[in-house]
Amino acid sequence: MTSIRHWRAPMLALAAVLLLMPQTAAAQGAAEPAAAATATPDRPSYDVSLRGDSDGSHWTGRQTVSFRNAARTPLRSIDVRLWGNGADGCGAADRPSPVRVGGVTGGTPRPLTVGCTALRIDLPAPLPQGARTSVSFDIAITVPDRVHRFGKDGAHRYLGNALPLLSVRDAQGRHLDPDVGFGESFHTLAGDFRVVLDHPGTLVVPATGTTTRRPGAPGRTVSTSTARGVRDFAWAAGPFRSKTVTTPGGIRLNAYWTATTSPEGVTTDLEDAAGAVDEFGLRFGRYPYAELDLVMSDTLDGFGSMEFPGLVLLWTEPEGSAVVHEIAHQWFYGLVGNDQFASPWLDESFAQYANQLYYREDTTTCWEDHGAWPSDTAALTRTLAYYADGHRSE
Ligand SMILES: [Zn+2]
Repeated sequence: MTSIRHWRAPMLALAAVLLLMPQTAAAQGAAEPAAAATATPDRPSYDVSLRGDSDGSHWTGRQTVSFRNAARTPLRSIDVRLWGNGADGCGAADRPSPVRVGGVTGGTPRPLTVGCTALRIDLPAPLPQGARTSVSFDIAITVPDRVHRFGKDGAHRYLGNALPLLSVRDAQGRHLDPDVGFGESFHTLAGDFRVVLDHPGTLVVPATGTTTRRPGAPGRTVSTSTARGVRDFAWAAGPFRSKTVTTPGGIRLNAYWTATTSPEGVTTDLEDAAGAVDEFGLRFGRYPYAELDLVMSDTLDGFGSMEFPGLVLLWTEPEGSAVVHEIAHQWFYGLVGNDQFASPWLDESFAQYANQLYYREDTTTCWEDHGAWPSDTAALTRTLAYYADGHRSE
């Protein structure tokens, strides 16, 4: 993500360091396959059906996730992350958590942990290597009343990080890191999603993946989105205006914007998005998902912008937004994943480096632009835990 106003300026002075560290990066890459081989459960497939209320503030339904045990050791439990509870935790009697899960089948749930962001489900029998199984649960989502990637902005609702996701267990153990309130704590393996959203026909609903729509009950629309090989699924709902263009490289861009967002900003974002998705496709490998949604609002200044697979949420001003940086994240975090809690510098620095390449900025001087080294303890490879421990300004 980025919350900076002047997105063309270097957010972090990382690109130069990347250029200076090829041997280190290569060594880390060489060590990766052994750890990655044991990452489990893998190949998740999510099947979700939700019904939204009149303004998209509440969604209820059922979620099934099937998965495979990739590890040699039998899998006895899984961890589901409820990242939507990151800011509100376990809530209170009169203010329940934004994301609530119940009616678990396919396993036995334990009490929620990590500020109600982690749900362990014990499997009925150890799952051998290579075997698949599934769990299902009821889900109730209440969109928090704040301007946020999981929040509200006028009549618009953003459901980023709202859908429960499987956590990862690998050579480092179970990934049960907390949401520290900024950046991204997320670490997921790529999977497939089929999400059916039954919503009022008055609501426009951008979503990850490719979406088909059909009439539902009177006054309602059923939007079915499918996405393969993605790490997350996000959607939005509201009275968005919309327009679709196809880039010269053949990628469909679906633009959605709020009524108060400047037309100049929408035009600039669409032009930059088209240029970036095609250029990054040539540089890093073709964008494989056929379409990309741009969700734009001029009143996200309290939050900023955020990447999700196939959908970017943008704080769009008349001069544009961080759209190029967020589209670069489709490759760095999306197609090339990393543990964003342990190594936030990885996806952020590659995304910002790509951003500077797109704008033809000199990537050799961003070190100087950053000014003085922030502190004696600052290091490129610090985890989010470090930044959460009083070092956020670094
Ligand atoms: Zn970013």
